[in-house]
Amino acid sequence: MNILDEFDTIAAIATPMGMGGVGVIRISGDKAFEIIEKIFTNPKFEPRKFNHGWIVENEKQIDEVIVLPFFAPNSYTGENVIEIQCHGGVNVVKNILNLVLKNGARMAEKGEFTKRAFLNKRMDLSQAEAVADIIHSKTSEFAKVSVKNLSGVLKEKINEIRNEIFEILSKITAGIDFPEDVKEPEYDYLVSGFEKIISSIDAVLSGAETSNIFRQGASVAIIGKPNVGKSSLFNALLNLDRAIVTDIAGTTRDVIKETLDLGIPVTLVDTAGIRDGVNEVDKVEQIGIEYSKQSLDEADLVLFVYDAAQGVTDEDKEVLELLKDKKYILIANKSDLMSGKPNADAVYLSALTGEGVNELKQKLTEKVCDINPESLDFVTNTRQQECLKKARHSIEQALLASQLRELQDLISIDVKSAILALDELTGELITDDILNNIFDHFCIGK
Ligand code: GDP
Repeated sequence: MNILDEFDTIAAIATPMGMGGVGVIRISGDKAFEIIEKIFTNPKFEPRKFNHGWIVENEKQIDEVIVLPFFAPNSYTGENVIEIQCHGGVNVVKNILNLVLKNGARMAEKGEFTKRAFLNKRMDLSQAEAVADIIHSKTSEFAKVSVKNLSGVLKEKINEIRNEIFEILSKITAGIDFPEDVKEPEYDYLVSGFEKIISSIDAVLSGAETSNIFRQGASVAIIGKPNVGKSSLFNALLNLDRAIVTDIAGTTRDVIKETLDLGIPVTLVDTAGIRDGVNEVDKVEQIGIEYSKQSLDEADLVLFVYDAAQGVTDEDKEVLELLKDKKYILIANKSDLMSGKPNADAVYLSALTGEGVNELKQKLTEKVCDINPESLDFVTNTRQQECLKKARHSIEQALLASQLRELQDLISIDVKSAILALDELTGELITDDILNNIFDHFCIGK
């Protein structure tokens, strides 16, 4: 879609298709009022007041509806917008949309309403992306933090950083352009200014790992030798009976996955026990063992389970060797069977009685996220992180050049690049391709 010729009038169904109490058809553009006047029995609108009446086609009643008018620029898109609330049946909604299209609107593309809101400066790009995040959020925590982005928290942070950079750039430029009247800034001033900017960028980037985990979820593998209670723990964490639990070693023949909502979506993977001497083990289990090594590689975090009653055995230590480069939590299961002193490094729990399982859930969230999700004020996506990294790199170059007392003319080139990278983040400076790519991830009607 070309952003230059898109200010015609668009329409789409804004609610999910299916049976529901209400269906909403949204129209946006210059002709929104003209179109509704042709098909609605009560079209005298006033701002902030809804009208009740019938949608009609050739004097035939289609549905009894409520119509909400939004007069430009006070609407979601910044244009004239009409929202028709009708009964929620699939065919009613479709019939009304068809009628709207016949009367002069074009079917909206994915994300086109939000794209117009951005192009009409009702929101910046980080807020527009927040709309997609809210729609797609898999957990309530992610939805909450995306709403903070929508309200402009990230936008504010980026603008603050941009202002800091801009202030330094203005001083450098004044020194270059008016050497007689304005002294060029001291190099020490530049060094400390750039250092401060780098730490401001780092502060925004510090939540990146957590943001990514929020978005994609984390993969957590349960690893340990057979019969220590991995499947039982899997079930206890999920409150279900999915994995087969037996007391014969090697009964989990496959990798079983389930999603656990801990604020962040966690994919929990129950694996067949890793153990040596696979030649004694039947073929099916051997395949399962391969799977568990693969799950181990892919996991963001490992729950390493051993039998609390037996303590950490040599066999456990061998498996632990595989984990030396991984984030893991040591779990002593079957605490109900244990007597003696607990190992301070391990989480003691009983998958059988449920004791200690909630404490594990809490620890799991802490380990998976680099910072507490509740303290997160905003999230960033990979596009935004790339822009921030580009800006950081340019400022680092400028810092280095300032430490080496290089010509300020040269330093200003890097400083300008940093500003451009931030402008790309907020959408001040953006190409059609990037924009289309962003809005293609939306759904129709938003
Ligand atoms: P896996 O092979 O590691 O997946 O182990 P399972 O989950 O299949 O459990 C092996 C056996 O240990 C089963 O008989 C379970 O009932 C038992 N078991 C698992 N967790 C506990 C626990 O916390 N306490 C006790 N007493 N038994 C457990």
